[in-house]
Amino acid sequence: MEKKRVYTFGNGLAEGRADMKNLLGGKGANLAEMNLIGVPVPPGFTITTEVCTEYNQLGRDYVVDVLKPDVEKAIENIEKLMGAKFGDRENPCLVSVRSGARVSMPGMMDTVLNLGLNDDAVEGIARKSGNERFAWDSYRRFIQMYGDVVLGMKPQSKEDIDPFEEIMEEVKHAKGVELDNDLTVEDLKELVKRFKAAVKERTGSDFPESAWEQLWGAVCAVFDSWMNERAILYRKMNNFPEEWGTAVNVQAMVYGNMGKTSGTGVAFTRDAATGEDIFNGEYLIDAQGEDVVAGVRTPQEITLEGSRRWAKLQGVSEEERAAKFPSLEEAMPDCAKELIETQQKLEDYFKDMQDLEFTIQNGKLWLLQTRSGKRTGAAMIKIAIDMLHQGYIDEKTALKRCDPEKLDELLHPVFDKKALAAAKPVTHGLPASPGAAAGQIVFHADEAEEWAKDGKKVILCRIETSPEDLRGMATAQGILTARGGMTSHAAVVARGMGKCCVSAANGVVINYKERKMTVNGKVFNEGDWISLDGTTGNVYEGKIQTQDAELGSNFIELMKIADKYTRMNVRTNADTPHDAKVARNFGATGIGLCRTEHMFFEEDKIIPMREMILAKNEEGRRKALEKLLPLQKKDFKGIFAAMDGYPVTVRLLDPPLHEFVPHDEKGQMEMARVMDISYSDIHERVESLMESNPMLGLRGCRLGNLYPEITEMQTRAIMEAALELKREGIKAVPEIMVPLTGIVYEFQAQKEIIERTIQQVFSENSDSIEYKIGTMIEIPRAALTAHKIAREADFFSFGTNDLTQMTFGYSRDDVAKFLPLYIDKGILKQDPFAVLDQNGVGQLVSMAVQNGRAVKPTLKCGICGEHGGEPSSVKFCHRVGLNYVSCSPFRVPIARLAAAQAAIE
Ligand code: PEP
Ligand code: MG
Repeated sequence: MEKKRVYTFGNGLAEGRADMKNLLGGKGANLAEMNLIGVPVPPGFTITTEVCTEYNQLGRDYVVDVLKPDVEKAIENIEKLMGAKFGDRENPCLVSVRSGARVSMPGMMDTVLNLGLNDDAVEGIARKSGNERFAWDSYRRFIQMYGDVVLGMKPQSKEDIDPFEEIMEEVKHAKGVELDNDLTVEDLKELVKRFKAAVKERTGSDFPESAWEQLWGAVCAVFDSWMNERAILYRKMNNFPEEWGTAVNVQAMVYGNMGKTSGTGVAFTRDAATGEDIFNGEYLIDAQGEDVVAGVRTPQEITLEGSRRWAKLQGVSEEERAAKFPSLEEAMPDCAKELIETQQKLEDYFKDMQDLEFTIQNGKLWLLQTRSGKRTGAAMIKIAIDMLHQGYIDEKTALKRCDPEKLDELLHPVFDKKALAAAKPVTHGLPASPGAAAGQIVFHADEAEEWAKDGKKVILCRIETSPEDLRGMATAQGILTARGGMTSHAAVVARGMGKCCVSAANGVVINYKERKMTVNGKVFNEGDWISLDGTTGNVYEGKIQTQDAELGSNFIELMKIADKYTRMNVRTNADTPHDAKVARNFGATGIGLCRTEHMFFEEDKIIPMREMILAKNEEGRRKALEKLLPLQKKDFKGIFAAMDGYPVTVRLLDPPLHEFVPHDEKGQMEMARVMDISYSDIHERVESLMESNPMLGLRGCRLGNLYPEITEMQTRAIMEAALELKREGIKAVPEIMVPLTGIVYEFQAQKEIIERTIQQVFSENSDSIEYKIGTMIEIPRAALTAHKIAREADFFSFGTNDLTQMTFGYSRDDVAKFLPLYIDKGILKQDPFAVLDQNGVGQLVSMAVQNGRAVKPTLKCGICGEHGGEPSSVKFCHRVGLNYVSCSPFRVPIARLAAAQAAIE
């Protein structure tokens, strides 16, 4: 059968459905579904995402040719339902053309409205609507949008000025008016004339008069926008593959700019910032959609309650609010009632918080879009748990609704309560996206990026943001805007990123050129520090101290549900009692990796450690190790006690010794003095430790095999610590781990030393405890010979950092030199050191687990490389049957949720 490329919808009928998002994009699929459930939607059709791929592979001519018959038929359907004709002079049918990928990418791709207008049709629209101003306003908007999107007249850099905006400003200035709405019909006609002249001048061609030519231009421009720079960047940031493509939605226009009984708005069925179950949103009378999100006019609230809340935050009196900024409930009560009923119907139907776009044309409500709304991490959890309690969804759905990575936002610090109470806000705005942020002021997105690269913390301050600012927003600590509402670009994108944002801050005037901003008269320059509280909307001068976040009851409930379904344990990588405690609070049930080397850098240990390394012979080393033993024992006692009965995997010394010794003259002189030997002896010994590739040199169990006394000392410290705790009534469960095994005999040799030392300690103390001896699997050879190693080891812990290094042959230390380029070119889809390479490294893991368990079914297997806290890698670990993942303390909740999701997927 011929591939179906065009799906129509309208008047309660639709060829598509909500579950066809991959083919129709999120917008197209939901437009179809809304038709099917009786929500008023203007008729239209969706061109599939597959056509976008054809467009990129086979080109424009092919796609236009192959689409033509279906699109003509679909346009006929719109004409029939709207009682108007596409391209007609007397009774023209106008359409919108919008992008729509399978996931929402706010503002990343292009849209054209009012398509089908020309010099004749504008008269037809004027006659038909009886509103000449509206007709000409629509026409000038159309030329402007079409010019920007299809004819490539959009400004390319921050210095460029949009040619249409420039003309607009000139005309407004000449007429002495401030708002677009104050322009007369004659002014608008003048604008159209000048806009068209600008098109001719810039492109060398006349503005296209034919509706069909306009339509194909716009459809292709939407496909092109899938490959524009900001869409590509957005996909990269979110790991969305290029192959998805965007759909194109063509829909009959309905108008929010037909006068006082028309309007347009955006709404959320619940609060996207906090998750509160409150319908909220904004609208503008006599406006088109882009006016609401662009933040040029002050949007008004839909509900009276919301409107009063807004007025309070903005310092607007009740009289002024009611007169100038009434809610939709006050301004158009019937429409507001229908909208409130419709939003409930949509949320009940889709069983998730919806983000809606609507237009009111001469008192009639139309829905233009519904989709699952973007939300902050806190809102994500609250909505999932509330909806579970309200009976909308079950526990498994609640778990699936939460994106593990977004939990990260909740774990970030908040402002220190005392410091905050003492600080005085310089202004306040709308609490657009919660969180605490302090940073230096920058005014341009590209500079935010540059400053952040230099390690600076910045707050991006903009009059309003646009999709071009995305990169800068991503690197900033927080975002402050002078204009825009809760649904402005800045607010929506910041919430999606989990970034703190205060929008429409009162009394803020930004001067980009002079790089300064005045806040109620006080001047702030680029580089000055400010602090933003995205939860209250307050803005403070200077840098306010932060403190650890408190986890709320919803978070705790979500984690409890996760633990109910999960099969894997989540441990942590920690080498201090403090980190161990933090991880336990986040729900870690053991330590999967305690790196002992970090302990040696502490003040009291580094000198004896250096003595041990620089000693000439075993005797010298033993003397130094004797000094280290009690100190190591103390470290282990602290960690075992913090984990109180949970297993602790202690890894024996791993890194190359040269990392511990001083490389400067001053340090070497000091060691010469401490050890009472000559500086040149020390210097020589340090030189002899240098290796051309230390990552592949004398490290891991090679150290312990060369200097068995190190293994002895560490084993003794571990076991003595555990026995001492036992006497104090605290249970310690030590698991001793040998690093960097590649050959089973390396492990055997270490195991023999460990066992012997343990038995000595037991007999000296006339006491014993349970313990395990296992190994890291981080060299491909170890994975390949897992069946041999498993006979000897009690457990395997996959060190996927080294395993990735050695499987790819990329040095962990030097990979940054080419990795970004590889990712840019698409040679690598992701950084394999961050996201486990399931096809390559993952195969080694899977094979080693299977072969290891074939000889020892009880073999405990875990992962302790960085991948243990990355959701897709955690899910992989579940699938290959690992017993646990281990990750840094702050990633423990993320891993717990991902592990639970893996278990129910
Ligand atoms: C690993 O290699 O994955 C690992 C956990 O060890 P390290 O990062 O300390 O080499
Ligand atoms: Mg390693």
